[in-house]
Amino acid sequence: MSFETLGLAPDLLSAVLKAGFTEPTPVQAAAIPKALAGHDLMVSSQTGSGKTAAFMLPALNRISTMPANKGTGVQILVLTPTRELAMQVTDATRSYGANLKDLRTATVVGGMPYAAQLKALSRRVDVLVATPGRLIDHLQSRRVNLSTVHTLVLDEADRMLDMGFIEDIETIVASTPASRQTLLFSATLDGTIAHLAGKMMRDPLRIEL
Ligand code: AMP
Repeated sequence: MSFETLGLAPDLLSAVLKAGFTEPTPVQAAAIPKALAGHDLMVSSQTGSGKTAAFMLPALNRISTMPANKGTGVQILVLTPTRELAMQVTDATRSYGANLKDLRTATVVGGMPYAAQLKALSRRVDVLVATPGRLIDHLQSRRVNLSTVHTLVLDEADRMLDMGFIEDIETIVASTPASRQTLLFSATLDGTIAHLAGKMMRDPLRIEL
């Protein structure tokens, strides 16, 4: 299995090769073609499995193949349970999106000063990586608009639920278009996660490795 066979645009393939990846990990090989085909996905995945590229490469592929959307607003929204994970996802996005012209990524997380986040949100943002509580603050004060999101990612969804973010997640999801694609990654896909997925996903494919 090689990255070339997954269906990614050349500007993403070249970034992957530059990152030094030679072969997709199992979660990437399973998830990327299905995500590119437009399916909603529920994926069981562990930290270190390569899950970030499994959702970010297909999400960025839409930006690569639909350049006319540039400047219309937030296109990709990633929710993570912690600030540390949000920072890692932001770094990975910059690496995987390095060959997309002028891609703008912003990070909105709790426990950090508002000033820099407000400045970032006042400019064009293509990819927004956020923890739910802080994003709710910005949504309620109308500093962020999610009506242009085409890809919503819930990363480590089980941890977000354990941390009590369920209501915040529901409010955030309701602020994104019903037509979005939703990609959910979680260590487990048990009852609570399946219930959440049932409420916010359309015929999701389950990928359990
Ligand atoms: P993640 O599970 O997304 O946090 O990724 C874990 C680590 O694996 C990160 O350091 C990635 O840069 C790396 N990684 C992701 N995909 C691949 C791949 N296909 N080949 C080699 N390393 C990878």
